[in-house]
Amino acid sequence: MPHVTTIKKRIRERDNYTCQKCGNDGPWVRLPDVHRLIPGSYYRPHLCVTLCNKCHSKMPRTIDDVFRMEPEDAGVAVTFLNLFLLDEREAFEALKKHCGGSGRKMRRFVYLALRDRLQRKGAMPKPTASSK
Ligand SMILES: [Zn+2]
Repeated sequence: MPHVTTIKKRIRERDNYTCQKCGNDGPWVRLPDVHRLIPGSYYRPHLCVTLCNKCHSKMPRTIDDVFRMEPEDAGVAVTFLNLFLLDEREAFEALKKHCGGSGRKMRRFVYLALRDRLQRKGAMPKPTASSK
């Protein structure tokens, strides 16, 4: 396993030293941050993105933080789905806790997350103000 500094460098290079959320591409006083989509996970290139310091400071720091955010928030849907891919059990328990054990709320959360992801990929029309 390469050193974290090396992995971070590769991720920044892959993303052209550009914030993947707001598009800020420098010049950088200090290097842009590497954000892990799964809070607290190992640095895995496919689960990390380059973010400017400002955008990074708004991202969730723990799995509980993720579920406190609205699924419509940028990036959260992707984070959510990646959580499922990595550790379904942990994601399920965190979601259950967030929704107070309500299956109805959980289904709604998953529905919104999937809808958001499809819209971002352009596979589904964006919502209009009235369809929300
Ligand atoms: Zn940014």
